[in-house]
Amino acid sequence: MQELTHWINGKHVKGTSGRFADVFNPATGEVQAKVPLASKAELDAAVAAAAAQQPKWAATNPQRRARVMMEFVRLLNRDMDKLAEALSREHGKTIPDAKGDVQRGLEVIEFCIGAPHLLKGEFTDSAGPGIDMYSMRQALGVVAGITPFNFPAMIPMWKMGPALACGNAFILKPSERDPSVPLMLAELMQEAGLPDGILQVVNGDKESVDAILDNPVIQAIGFVGSTPIAEYIYGRGCSNGKRVQCFGGAKNHMIIMPDADMDQAADALVGAGYGAAGERCMAISVAVPVGDKTADALIERLVPRIEKLKVGPYTAGNDVDYGPLVTGAAMTRVKGLISSGVEQGADLVVDGRDFKLQGYESGFFVGPTLFDRVTRDMDIYKQEIFGPVLSTVRAKSYEEALSYAMDHEYGNGTAIFTRDGDTARDFANRINIGMIGINVPIPVPLAYHTFGGWKKSGFGDLNQHGPDSFRFYTRTKTITSRWPSGIKEGGEFNFKAMD
Ligand code: NAD
Repeated sequence: MQELTHWINGKHVKGTSGRFADVFNPATGEVQAKVPLASKAELDAAVAAAAAQQPKWAATNPQRRARVMMEFVRLLNRDMDKLAEALSREHGKTIPDAKGDVQRGLEVIEFCIGAPHLLKGEFTDSAGPGIDMYSMRQALGVVAGITPFNFPAMIPMWKMGPALACGNAFILKPSERDPSVPLMLAELMQEAGLPDGILQVVNGDKESVDAILDNPVIQAIGFVGSTPIAEYIYGRGCSNGKRVQCFGGAKNHMIIMPDADMDQAADALVGAGYGAAGERCMAISVAVPVGDKTADALIERLVPRIEKLKVGPYTAGNDVDYGPLVTGAAMTRVKGLISSGVEQGADLVVDGRDFKLQGYESGFFVGPTLFDRVTRDMDIYKQEIFGPVLSTVRAKSYEEALSYAMDHEYGNGTAIFTRDGDTARDFANRINIGMIGINVPIPVPLAYHTFGGWKKSGFGDLNQHGPDSFRFYTRTKTITSRWPSGIKEGGEFNFKAMD
């Protein structure tokens, strides 16, 4: 049994707490490694070591820090296959999807190569007589990221890239379910030239998260995960005086107008609903066709597409559409929710509960599942399922469809499929959700824009990646400077405008 480690001061370090978690191969159900769960003392020691190194890193000019990012991008491309394989082995997603996970993180690192430009301050010459005013962005010090299992490469990179490029030291607490890729990323950062101690990977669970929340040296926390944990981290982190941004769960609706291209909409729904087994915060989990005719046409097109989906292990090659869920507990929970949908009166059109794959009987697979006539009061509508389950909610009008997405407590992403520009424009303007797709089912913004949901999907006021991330990981300092010439006139006592 492989024993994983932490990554502290540029080295793999064994856990000393005596506590471990199992890391599964979700396709076979076997435990393939154990990951150490750090104690508070281990976390605090990693932070202290990072704090000692951080001022030197912050004083390294931004262009040199950017060159580390540039080299890191080269190494990610060099090791793409190796990273994707390790990722699929612990997460279960297909190899092409795992490469996408690495790629979407890599693109944020590419954005961070622009650090010298992004960190430039503002300057006003002669703001008053002999007075110049300027502002600069300074690193916060030691900051931390707490990340979920579903994107074990991308989300750690979304956090570490901007934090490091800004001159911070970064403590990464990755998901304990798939910790190998984060450790590999740390090795590559070292190879790219990052000084030891500036990036520490501390594996763990609630104990290490609480230690992060309470450590007085840590200045900021970026979290991604489920909403209850996001709310907990936001509350406790903020009350401890930290800068905190937390991104939570989702229930993304896709509205299908009667004028939409139905084949295009059905294709989009199948990819966005079942890709990565529905374990994406931007997955579409609710289809909202407008009018019964639209709903019937949609279901008629969805069923044959769903029946053709290939579910299997990542090792089965490129024609697998999606793999297993991450753990047996996740599988049991998703199947339980499907049963609750049946009990609460939804029409189960395609049932994935009994899916079995020869040779992989102990894997955590759930077959693609489709519900029709789902209503607002059902658990499958209210809760984030995070599995390969698509619910159809029939709306009588555009306004009713809009109200479904707007009234839901989550507000991460949403999409509308229509051929009418006016409807699309109205939708984009009125909806209270952070990321909107117009004939695009999964509207994940690219690295140079920002990513973030509203309502119970996001806590804090700045988004992830893009320019917001450089604001989040820096503090602004504004300097008013006067170099007087001539005779000094004595003190001034009134707070006055500069003339
Ligand atoms: P999770 O909330 O279980 O875990 C996230 C992190 O929190 C992990 O590092 C975990 O170790 C830690 N954690 C778990 N329980 C904790 C506790 N009781 N106290 C303190 N820390 C704890 O989430 P997950 O299952 O790993 O990821 C799936 C969730 O993440 C879904 O809800 C998904 O929608 C969400 N997600 C959101 C976004 C986004 O940008 N909004 C992106 C990806 C995933």
